[in-house]
Amino acid sequence: MKLANCTQCGAVYVENVHGLCVKCLREEEEAEDLVAEFLREKNKASLEEIHQATGVNHKIILRMLKRGRIQSDAVISYPCETCGAPISEGRLCEACSNNIVRQLKPDEWQPKPEQPSERKGNQRLYIKDLLKNK
Ligand SMILES: [Zn+2]
Ligand SMILES: [Zn+2]
Repeated sequence: MKLANCTQCGAVYVENVHGLCVKCLREEEEAEDLVAEFLREKNKASLEEIHQATGVNHKIILRMLKRGRIQSDAVISYPCETCGAPISEGRLCEACSNNIVRQLKPDEWQPKPEQPSERKGNQRLYIKDLLKNK
């Protein structure tokens, strides 16, 4: 048996696939029922609407979404973690994920700065000198 900290309340519990202690797991199951019930009547709801109607906190609803626990045709939108634009999957809207890709791989997105011709000249000189010395 392995002990871990509950990802919800931080209590020490015997590790399970949910990452939650028994108390939080039960609370989450109740929350899921509430949300599922609410979505049965709605075709489309935003994270905020679900929260307002059920009192379930955003974190739990998002976790349900990410785990695919919300079994519904409802299109659920919630705010992008960076700019707040409504999204229905992942953590960031398309624009923000593109931004991140750009930041991670700047070489692929930005034109390489032109090498100053002066430096090219120097490099050529340097190579010539090397050949001369050999
Ligand atoms: Zn807990
Ligand atoms: Zn965004």
